[in-house]
Amino acid sequence: MIGIGVLKGMWVTLRQFIGTYPAGRWLLKRAGLPEGDGLCTIEYPEVKQQHAERHRVFPFLVYDATPDNLRCVACKICEQECPPQCIHIVGPAKDEQGRPLKTHGRTYPLRFDIDVSICMSCRICVDVCPFDAIEMDNAHEISSGGRFQELNYTKEQLLKSADYFQKIKPTEAAVVDQRLAAKAKKSAPPSSS
Ligand code: SF4
Ligand code: SF4
Repeated sequence: MIGIGVLKGMWVTLRQFIGTYPAGRWLLKRAGLPEGDGLCTIEYPEVKQQHAERHRVFPFLVYDATPDNLRCVACKICEQECPPQCIHIVGPAKDEQGRPLKTHGRTYPLRFDIDVSICMSCRICVDVCPFDAIEMDNAHEISSGGRFQELNYTKEQLLKSADYFQKIKPTEAAVVDQRLAAKAKKSAPPSSS
């Protein structure tokens, strides 16, 4: 029947409203209806909201063990693919002869900035990165007093450890770890035995 969905929605709102009051909860209980606690909000900041693991805010750069061991090799694929063009990479770092510098066997970006005032949290940078070097953070308490430089996150601000990634997104991190382990196995030199 046309409009039944609207009526159902209005009933949910009304029930929630009634359930805000002790007398209303008593009434709902008497009527054999779910009473709930009537609360739609939490006492933030004392109480923190529990987000689903896939909740995402802005990207961060992953490093293994120490911050100089970042996974990003400055290939710039994410910079090219980011729809609002809010990633800016300088590098890879080079020596005086123009040869790419390496640390832990990888090239690395001299600069890596993300302007989070423009980022739309689409996750495309994560999906296109061939090195699992960038992931989506779920930290959302990131308000700032300024609108410009303060929201242009630098490489140093973006770097977070693989342990942090495992802590906030254990399921996703386990898949990434498996993929990296398989890659490492594939590229390892064959044993001489
Ligand atoms: S984050 Fe990934 S895609 Fe972007 S530059 Fe680094 S390695 Fe390349
Ligand atoms: S999440 Fe989307 S908008 Fe934000 S930096 Fe990545 S690709 Fe760009």
